[in-house]
Amino acid sequence: MKINANEISALIKEQIKNYHAKIDSSDVGTVVTVGDGIALIYGLDQAMLGELLLFPNDVYGMVMNLEEGHVGAVLLGDDTLIKEGDTVKRTKQVMEVPVGDELLGRVVNALGQPIDGLGEIKTKKSRPIERIAPGVITRKSVNTPLETGITAIDAMTPIGRGQRELIIGDRQTGKTAIAIDAIINQKGKNVLCIYVAIGQKNSTVAQIVDKLKEHGAMEYTLVMAATASEPAPMLYVAPYAGCAMAEEWMEQGKDVLIIYDDLSKHAVAYRALSLLLKRSPGREAYPGDVFYLHSRLLERACKLSDEFGGGSITALPIVETQSGDISAYIPTNVISITDGQIFLTTDSFNAGQRPAIDSGLSVSRVGGAAQYKATKQVARSLKIDLASFLEMKSFSQFGSDLDKSTLAILKHGEVLLRILRQEQYKVRSLAKQVFGLYLAKTNKLDELPIEEVSKTVEDAFEYVSNNKPNILKDIEDKKEITEENEKALNAAINDFFEINKK
Ligand code: ATP
Ligand code: MG
Repeated sequence: MKINANEISALIKEQIKNYHAKIDSSDVGTVVTVGDGIALIYGLDQAMLGELLLFPNDVYGMVMNLEEGHVGAVLLGDDTLIKEGDTVKRTKQVMEVPVGDELLGRVVNALGQPIDGLGEIKTKKSRPIERIAPGVITRKSVNTPLETGITAIDAMTPIGRGQRELIIGDRQTGKTAIAIDAIINQKGKNVLCIYVAIGQKNSTVAQIVDKLKEHGAMEYTLVMAATASEPAPMLYVAPYAGCAMAEEWMEQGKDVLIIYDDLSKHAVAYRALSLLLKRSPGREAYPGDVFYLHSRLLERACKLSDEFGGGSITALPIVETQSGDISAYIPTNVISITDGQIFLTTDSFNAGQRPAIDSGLSVSRVGGAAQYKATKQVARSLKIDLASFLEMKSFSQFGSDLDKSTLAILKHGEVLLRILRQEQYKVRSLAKQVFGLYLAKTNKLDELPIEEVSKTVEDAFEYVSNNKPNILKDIEDKKEITEENEKALNAAINDFFEINKK
């Protein structure tokens, strides 16, 4: 290849001509290196932390590191469109996402752009993705239940609107299933839902959207997907973006349920970014501020006081453990931030006890104040009964001839576990949950063979709904079992067992 001397001299002349032209290095910078979703930029002396930067080809970036010689930014788009030497401009804005009712029923990415092929979302407002959590004065204690429709949760670890309850367990233990059931159960309960998928497979998210549609839950739900195929910065911003959308509704006085599925993958994405930005690694190679990463997110869930509209954000973060180790770094962090956890175990799951909730290690520290009286009436001793059953079960494995009372406790425990078993997508109403637990308390189920328990409860519920619908309606309306109603309920249960004897 021949080099044209004229061309070279033209280039050199151009460079000499511009030698003294002062570029404003405070608002414009030059890309020094780019790759893995990260760009290091020379210039931009005045850039702010978290500020949005405009790269060529309409790619946006967000400032993460402010250093003496350069600025480090994460790219919120395709990094292959950017090359060394490209010009970067400041936007003097922090990152914002569109918010509002127009988002309901849609599937969006971490920037709030539609990815469901249903066309543009015409929102009128946007909000910054990061915000300081509401202060103490604006808050109120949790007082309304957020019903999940899952007996084991509503009875033993009740969740209140405005609470943060962690769902934690190994992979494939039904964590997502609980969150999706909780969304499905919000139908007709005036709660808007946001499902934020972080680092999951595209196909999994598609399946979840299908299931939500099938159960009529998409009408009041927004799905945000930052899937595994996307660059780490998108995974990093997704939960904050979802939370900003939730805050808009909360400030309108609405109740919102938001699910972060899951924060372990979020932490991993953040670790990748931090290492690429050359921040020093700490325990498990996570950067030092990984606690703040999740605490500032989860603190934004709250119940506002009446002067501030009374809205709420209930957060259900999900964390995946490795072989049940809840004392690893990220699990202990998130456990200490949330108001309780629902711990799922592989052993129970494989034994068919689904949802596989460990009643001993699961707690809800504030939800009890919001539990309905009816549930309290039937579930008060549930946790203790289960604990003594499990203890006795492990002891009785050594002995062969057990006395009658021990056998009775063992049988009753097995019955309780059966009542707590629940298929996916089969959420139960308050009356149905209370009925099942009440039936267990009557000890009538203890005489049946264990395989017949679940079916008998279903049949008994069916019988009472068909023949004495007022009893269940009364529980549903008053949210408690009144004395009169209890008499009627006992009579109806006796009738059912009489009929089925013959
Ligand atoms: P991952 O770690 O892959 O995200 P996960 O813990 O979120 O998994 P799920 O995907 O919710 O688990 O559930 C795993 C499998 O168990 C799914 O096939 C789901 O349909 C099934 N499953 C979950 N809960 C129940 C249930 N209560 N009854 C029957 N099957 C269930
Ligand atoms: Mg899952």
